[in-house]
Amino acid sequence: MVTDLGRVDILNLELRSQNMSGRPKDGVYWPFESHMDAAIAEARRAASRGEVPVGAVISGPDGLVISSAGNMTRELDDPTAHAEILAIRAACKIFSGSRLVGCSIHVTLEPCAMCAAAISHARIKRLCFGASDPKSGGVDHGAMVFTHPQCHFVPEVYSGIGETEASELLQEFFSRLRSAGKA
Ligand SMILES: [Zn+2]
Repeated sequence: MVTDLGRVDILNLELRSQNMSGRPKDGVYWPFESHMDAAIAEARRAASRGEVPVGAVISGPDGLVISSAGNMTRELDDPTAHAEILAIRAACKIFSGSRLVGCSIHVTLEPCAMCAAAISHARIKRLCFGASDPKSGGVDHGAMVFTHPQCHFVPEVYSGIGETEASELLQEFFSRLRSAGKA
């Protein structure tokens, strides 16, 4: 079912969370190859580097992975070095163009307003994200970038894919930070 916001709702969240391989499960066909497992691996690597654990993977119209990245804001001293932005930059370099028509992006966390805008500018066809982010998300929360009339390109949005694992990574990371602060 496609709502008027362009969001595609696929059955229940739990089933989506479990079905990360893109293969039919319980009679439900996942319409594209999911790369959320690779995005979660990027998030883990980001955590091990002391970054907020968020990972992103961009795949082409054929489903093959083009680029992937984890957050690098601290390492690069760059507030724009979110996983999505880094993966978009890398994919655009590979294509020698500023548009990623027909591509998909898998992100472990709901993109912020900056990244949602970048996804729209890049004309990425499909956004799949894991955990929702009421505090800083810009898709379902806050700026709700894709709902604005000024947003000229709205991707298909799928949420809740690999949500449990993505949320746990973030919770672990921030609880470690808090306990380090208290120590
Ligand atoms: Zn962002």
